[in-house]
Amino acid sequence: MRFADITGLEEVKEQLVNSVQANHLAHALLFVGPEGSANLAIALAFATYLQCTNREKSADAAADAGPGLFGGPPEPAPAKAAVEVSRDACGVCPSCLKMAKFQHPDVHWVYPVSSTSTVKGDNAVSKSFITEWRQFLGQSAYGSLGEWRHLYGGEDKQVNISKEESRNIIGSLMLKSYEGPYKIMIIWLPEYMHPSAANGILKILEEPPAKTIFILVTHDTEKLLATILSRTQLVKIRAFSDNEVAQILIQQHEVPEEKASALARLAAGNLQEALRLATEATDESFALFRDWMRLCYERQYSKLVSFSDDMGKMGRDSQRNLLLTGLNLLRETLVYPYASGDLVRLQSEELAFAERFSKVATPLKVQHMADLLNQTLYYLERNANPKIALLDLSLKLTGILRT
Ligand SMILES: [Zn+2]
Repeated sequence: MRFADITGLEEVKEQLVNSVQANHLAHALLFVGPEGSANLAIALAFATYLQCTNREKSADAAADAGPGLFGGPPEPAPAKAAVEVSRDACGVCPSCLKMAKFQHPDVHWVYPVSSTSTVKGDNAVSKSFITEWRQFLGQSAYGSLGEWRHLYGGEDKQVNISKEESRNIIGSLMLKSYEGPYKIMIIWLPEYMHPSAANGILKILEEPPAKTIFILVTHDTEKLLATILSRTQLVKIRAFSDNEVAQILIQQHEVPEEKASALARLAAGNLQEALRLATEATDESFALFRDWMRLCYERQYSKLVSFSDDMGKMGRDSQRNLLLTGLNLLRETLVYPYASGDLVRLQSEELAFAERFSKVATPLKVQHMADLLNQTLYYLERNANPKIALLDLSLKLTGILRT
């Protein structure tokens, strides 16, 4: 992953490259961005940039190469043999090739994990899952925690970054770097650090060994310990715009233009969600949610029980899809009466649903329902029993719709 592989976000790339070139790079960075944003992708591209062995090249060679990296006019060659520093990784040096396979020996990874059927106890640390992790990154740099758990097989367990892991972090950073100019420790979702793990790395986070860079990649700074926050420099990574998501779908995933814009609006800046919508039969989730709401409205209790049973047997992904589709629909139902044209992000069948639904549920009710859906998503993410959670949700939604 190079900066050039990430659409938009020039301001963040600029800021990071400038900090390296001006020798102002903080030794602990906190990349904050919402789910489906490029926070992990930028971390990868930045690590690749830092380790690239072709970053510095002689100005003469650069001038011979014609226009600069960004297609601007060539800089006049300076009189003396100065060094021109490139603003992106080269993508072809041995270091970049290792980064492309997520196998650079001086780039260390830490991420939330749990025990599984084959990995138990103190072995439930990142390095036990490195093969799966490389596979996860290879699929997409925009994946969610749910997708990660699904991939390594830890769906039914609580994930964390354990105290044992903090020992590994310190251990791997104490080693001399093998080949890179830097040793880089990328911690994905540090909000899942056990407090003892967080406390365990405070010292090294504050005073790391020379040429060591921490990159923490988070969705939620509010869940981070203040002691971690105060030791890191914040780098905000905004969500993708609808237009950027649409461009990515069109250019990199061959989605037809019209469908791409519709999906981009539905995904509301979450690239991974847009990719999921593009590859899956989303109509199914929509129809399921519509039928479910009908059962709630008609107080069909026995059918709601079977519905929750059936949904409970589906995978986490299907349950999540149903709730996310529902949330999208409810949100659009809220704006529907006030918005026209661009503000409404729905396609025709869903629009009809929003129109009917806004007649039976006041904005206050819709808001309340959306809160409950969110809450259930949260519970499911933390391994609540899906049948019970969905039945409980169904009964509450029925209550709201019929009061
Ligand atoms: Zn390179």
